Amino acid sequence: MFNRRQFVAKSLLASLGLGLVSCDNEKEISKEEVSPSSSLGGAKPLVIATWNHGLIANEKAWEILSNNGRALDAVEEGVKVVEADPKGTTVGIGGTPDRDGHVTLDACIMDEKGNAGAVCFIENIKHPISVARKVMEETPHVMLAGEGALQFAKEQGFKEEKLLTEKSEKAWEEWKEKSKYEPIINVENHDTISQLAIDKNGDISGSCTTSGLGYKMRGRVGDSPIIGASLFVDNEVGAACATGLGEVIMKTLGSFLIVEFMRNGLSPNEACKKAVMRIIKKYDYKDLQVGYLAINKSGEYGGYSIHEGFSYAICVDGKNEMVKTDYYVKGE
Ligand code: ASP
Repeated sequence: MFNRRQFVAKSLLASLGLGLVSCDNEKEISKEEVSPSSSLGGAKPLVIATWNHGLIANEKAWEILSNNGRALDAVEEGVKVVEADPKGTTVGIGGTPDRDGHVTLDACIMDEKGNAGAVCFIENIKHPISVARKVMEETPHVMLAGEGALQFAKEQGFKEEKLLTEKSEKAWEEWKEKSKYEPIINVENHDTISQLAIDKNGDISGSCTTSGLGYKMRGRVGDSPIIGASLFVDNEVGAACATGLGEVIMKTLGSFLIVEFMRNGLSPNEACKKAVMRIIKKYDYKDLQVGYLAINKSGEYGGYSIHEGFSYAICVDGKNEMVKTDYYVKGE
């Protein structure tokens, strides 16, 4: 199994040169080459979220959706549960710091009208997703970064708090002993949380929030606050979101691409697969993981990843369960 630790490790090595080797030995798949049996779901409302922590995020989101709530509220409140959990080391409080010991957070949100808000490189704020929503609703801008984002958050009433927990500090101290990452194969599969929902009115929204790559360079911002990379919503078509190595997601604008593939008739599963194939075609994918999720206007959903090990939580009709995605690298 390829897991977060492994891709973090590779990414750290890569960050020395950030070189992703071009690899053009794979062709992009055509519509005919994707699995035909790939339409899942079809009911509304529904909510879908990345990784195991998607379950608790969906549970909260479902409370809102099942009471005729708006998808936008569902995806904000859903991921907030994960941001507030100090046990999670990839989102919000407890997030893994950068190599200098600072927890810096990235988040974005997008609604059914095509409005979007984001914050990046923000420190000391537990709920960057809510700051992102404030950016969307209270400013003429899409993204605020660093100091400016923090200042805005405080003006909006958010309180500063320490996000580095004892556990993450201890892990960072250990990491510093070698200042490089050595892969450990295990079954951890927690990561960035991205969540998509469609409400009873058929309106779609999405959110994404993360502490990013563990022990990243100070100032590094990944895909998670970038509209079109980690998240894209088009209420006429559907929505997509991402987790994994942000650099390749950004370079292929994965979530936007998936929504465009769905616009051209692919199912969510097929569209996610085709966006993964874009990465396969252009970059050395062997040591990096990316997972995509998508939903369409009819309530169909799906996902696909480069390597085995990506899973998502899907909640339809109040039934919240984990699903493993299909993946590209098999038998290697
Ligand atoms: N996409 C995130 C980033 O590159 C990492 C993750 O999914 O955990 O910052």
